[in-house]
Amino acid sequence: MRRQAPALEAALAQLEAAQLRRARVTVDHRAATGRTLTLSGGRELVDFSSNDYLGLARHPALAAAMSECAAHAGAGSGASHLISGHGAEHAKLEEELAAFTRRERALLFSTGYMANLAVITALAGRSERVLLDRLCHASLIDGARLSGATLVRYPHADAAEAARLLAADPGHTALLATDGVFSMDGDLAPLPELVRCARGRDLWLVVDDAHGLGVVGAEGGGVLEHFGLGSDAVPVLVGTLGKAFGSFGAFVAGSAALIEFLIQKARTYVYTTALPQPVAAATRAALALSRTESWRRERLRSLVSRFRAAAHALGVPLADSTTPIQPVLLGSAAAALAAQRELASAGYWVVAIRPPTVPAGSARLRVTLSAAHTEAEIDALAEQLGRACARVRNA
Ligand SMILES: *Cc1c(COP(=O)(O)O)cnc(C)c1O
Repeated sequence: MRRQAPALEAALAQLEAAQLRRARVTVDHRAATGRTLTLSGGRELVDFSSNDYLGLARHPALAAAMSECAAHAGAGSGASHLISGHGAEHAKLEEELAAFTRRERALLFSTGYMANLAVITALAGRSERVLLDRLCHASLIDGARLSGATLVRYPHADAAEAARLLAADPGHTALLATDGVFSMDGDLAPLPELVRCARGRDLWLVVDDAHGLGVVGAEGGGVLEHFGLGSDAVPVLVGTLGKAFGSFGAFVAGSAALIEFLIQKARTYVYTTALPQPVAAATRAALALSRTESWRRERLRSLVSRFRAAAHALGVPLADSTTPIQPVLLGSAAAALAAQRELASAGYWVVAIRPPTVPAGSARLRVTLSAAHTEAEIDALAEQLGRACARVRNA
């Protein structure tokens, strides 16, 4: 055992030298507007790195729902859903999520990570293949690994190559999964083409729309609403509740049979404590706000256009994204970190995303916009990015 610590220290030093060591910051305070955070040490920064796209995480209705529920139901669920942890708030939230996604049923999970492990391990087995987009979220990859199926990845957003891989392996591919909106790139999956690939095959098409639900589509129905696709085209939909909905948790939505099967078989559902009911209560408040306050989505769309126009005019290298995820590609980890530092000293919190979260050579600043931001903040960020990118280019 004593031999292990120096080996870990050497590995950490190696990460440090490659500019790949990650560090946490402690947020001491988040303003009631949701727009700024204060890091320990006292600096207040405009937050352009959260996934709180609709500006709901600090909304008083969520906090009120949470504390009211905690007052009568308590903090913890006390057991897993199949023992005695499944409460009335969970049941109501599942019904509302099913209605929102227009599916027969929905099943709550504690995290999106666990929901993706559940879906893939339950639906794919050892002698089968799982086909994923190369830029899929880590939880889909880990689900495929845990399932014991052979993991096959197609080039990013390349539905023609996915079709070719499917045709080359008739009958053995159990599942094709993709992010709806790609978490580090902000682009949309080519869903109509993927649906065409899957049609007529004995295959589950799974869409993880962690960054699309609540944001994309007039009603926030995500990429499926955007493309006009229903549950017959995409039978398995995974959503998260800690991003646009400002709360915590995740769900899988689909047919009654799918949900009943997951309840029986998904180990990340069966062998874990039910998420706290106050969290479910807060999520219900968020779902209601998302429905009644569609101005949040409209505002977000207009801020995205404004940011893109301003950043483009200033020579900022933007990716092809129409969502609130607006990556600024810088290449090396060192360049991305330098830009992060420069923006922080100017008052903006934008985090550098480095390998292995993104492929080598594609380190970036992942700018995310929120309906809570002001126009002036968006304009000022674009200007600051223009300066930082010029400096990186000249370095
Ligand atoms: C964030 C994310 C997840 C994980 O969701 P959590 O609830 O944070 O565990 C899954 N898939 C995608 C695409 C994500 O971006």
